[in-house]
Amino acid sequence: MREEESDFVKFIGTAGARFVVMKQLRSSGGVWLSAGGTNLYMDPGPGALVRCLNSRPKMDPSTLDGIVLTHKHLDHSGDLNVMIEAMTEGGFRKRGVLFAPEDALEKDPVVFNYVRSYLEKIEILRENSQYQIGGISFSTALRHNHGVETYGVNFRMASHTISFITDTRFFQELPDLYRGEVLVIHVVRLKPVGDDPIDHLSIEDVKAIVRKARPKLTVLTHFGMTMIKAKPWEVAAELEKELGVKVIAASDGMKLNLKEV
Ligand SMILES: [Zn+2]
Repeated sequence: MREEESDFVKFIGTAGARFVVMKQLRSSGGVWLSAGGTNLYMDPGPGALVRCLNSRPKMDPSTLDGIVLTHKHLDHSGDLNVMIEAMTEGGFRKRGVLFAPEDALEKDPVVFNYVRSYLEKIEILRENSQYQIGGISFSTALRHNHGVETYGVNFRMASHTISFITDTRFFQELPDLYRGEVLVIHVVRLKPVGDDPIDHLSIEDVKAIVRKARPKLTVLTHFGMTMIKAKPWEVAAELEKELGVKVIAASDGMKLNLKEV
């Protein structure tokens, strides 16, 4: 069986927010998903291309079928244009689908116009909508509370459901929106910061979400400085003990084989 035919999620990068990204304390490359022979990249932040090519085994972006951009912040979109070029072999092979919110394309866009013509299709991500690419179908939920237009994603593959709660401030409906067997949560902060304008989740929010959603496996990623300092794997182990469900912290290059979940 070829590598891309087994269903997996590979965390090319696990950095979140400005300082961890700027100092590259963790990589900020995003995530590669593969299911039923379909390859999809999510949020190619700074370093995505280099990290893919340097990973073992090498992840070849020209085998991608599409790219999902959850929102246009730099830590998610820094390598978007170059990943589109790589997916389309420098634009010589028109192919692939880009899924992105409207404000990543219209207002202060993060996708160059000349690169758009390399793509087979651009699909706009909107609230509560369904999408399909090869063997992967996915849906968005409510718009996140995150400054720029942002959506989380519920992926449905033949073997599994996997939900990604991307960047957002906590809001009441959040725990009900993402019910994948595997739940990936972007947790930037160890502790909540009161009224400060930080549109990110903390470990307190994770507890509220997991208590309600009860996924088979929770994966923490997209760490800010306070999480890095607290050692994400130790935080995950404590959460697992407290909540009685399996919790792991993603690390750069970690491959989650969905058949083993
Ligand atoms: Zn982010």
